[in-house]
Amino acid sequence: MVKTRFAPSPTGYLHLGNARTAIFSYLFARHNRGGFVLRVEDTDRERSKKEFEEMLLKDLEWLGIEWDEFYRQSERFDIYREYVNKLLESGHAYPCFCTPEELEKEREEAQRKGIAYRYSGKCRVLTPEEAEKLKKEGKPFTIRFRVPDGEEIVFEDLVKGHISINADDFGDFVIVRSDGSPTYNFVVVVDDALMGITHVVRGEDHIPNTPKQILIYRALGFEVPKFAHLPVILGEDRSKLSKRHGAVSVMNYREEGFLPEALFNYLCLLGWSPPGSDREIFSKEELIELFDLKDVNSAPAVFNREKLRWMNGVYIRDVVSLERLYEAILPFLESAGYDVSDEEYVKKVLERTRDAYDTFTEAVEKLRPFFVDEIEIEPDLWSRLEDMRSYEVLSAFAEKLKDRDLETPEDVKKLAKEIQKELGVKPKEIWHSLRIALTGQLEGVGIDVLLSTLPKERVISRIGRVLEKLG
Ligand code: GLU
Repeated sequence: MVKTRFAPSPTGYLHLGNARTAIFSYLFARHNRGGFVLRVEDTDRERSKKEFEEMLLKDLEWLGIEWDEFYRQSERFDIYREYVNKLLESGHAYPCFCTPEELEKEREEAQRKGIAYRYSGKCRVLTPEEAEKLKKEGKPFTIRFRVPDGEEIVFEDLVKGHISINADDFGDFVIVRSDGSPTYNFVVVVDDALMGITHVVRGEDHIPNTPKQILIYRALGFEVPKFAHLPVILGEDRSKLSKRHGAVSVMNYREEGFLPEALFNYLCLLGWSPPGSDREIFSKEELIELFDLKDVNSAPAVFNREKLRWMNGVYIRDVVSLERLYEAILPFLESAGYDVSDEEYVKKVLERTRDAYDTFTEAVEKLRPFFVDEIEIEPDLWSRLEDMRSYEVLSAFAEKLKDRDLETPEDVKKLAKEIQKELGVKPKEIWHSLRIALTGQLEGVGIDVLLSTLPKERVISRIGRVLEKLG
């Protein structure tokens, strides 16, 4: 059975790049009716924060990524110790007593010679007795993995293809730090092996780690999984996507009012497309059906915020149900202080305006006139009202509203025509007068939509207040 995992470190908010890794890993598992593991890699005690872990889980849930098993590395130290001992016993690992100062010297030496640094292997030759003696003296030590000299480590990456790295490029590496904590390269192997991971899907920045991990798999007699290293995501300027490019965490997009369905869909297209198709809008179920690692592009993908915004707009307008839109947008309207107690009214507003915004924060702005009756009219717009025959237009409009209901935008247009004819004013004068009086703005959602949705009494009272001041 296929089993994949997502293994984030809780040292920051979930980055879009990592979210895409999680999505690809999840889709591959589900496509193959396999299992998906979430493993929090919190062995770095200083940088790992509970707050980040909580946010990580929240963001993944929000995106609709469900996991079948959950682990936290900080709860598995006993297991790691057991496997370290195995490596020590079999001679695949050894204690290293070199001090940070000595190692620094080695590093400087390599730099001076202009060669890549690797550990000299000084402690490789210590006998068990010598090592025991140094331990007894209380000398701090790390544990290093004994890397076979000159070995070429080769693997077929499912995305990047044939990869070959010589073990001499890195030399004996640390698997347990002097404070007793195991390092990433070691625990990741123990975990992936014990958890039965068949496909390791992760960012390409981990390619240099993979040969080290393969050596540990072999030393422990574990089966080596398949690897799929995903290319980086770039910003528009073709440098690695980072905070410099603006909002890059899932949380940012959640708070800005993006639909998780749209973000999920968009992130999938960063490096993947179904063969022979330029279709872009897919439900999660369709993505599960279609996704395969072999169709992931090995070249970097470019993140385009405007495209994501566009796609979110498509989801708001055409993809999600009104019920779903209502549920997703409600918290935004509530936190703006809008009265949303009348569910039917809110839904009516949403149904008629969903083509007017691409995000929920934009919706909060644009929908204000549907929810807030205190309309502030800036001085220059007041003068405009005064310059036009607004008083007549607005009085006629309010008067006619008394014995008729405006159910649809067409009803509003009809009434406007009537007034235009009777008063002999220009259409622009009618529409501008109404728009300024009812919204305090010159742009926004169609005024015919507003007038046919907002309850009549509220229209009349807003107009009344303006007439009072105009008169
Ligand atoms: N904790 C590692 C990271 O966040 C996971 C790498 C892996 O998937 O092996 O980069």
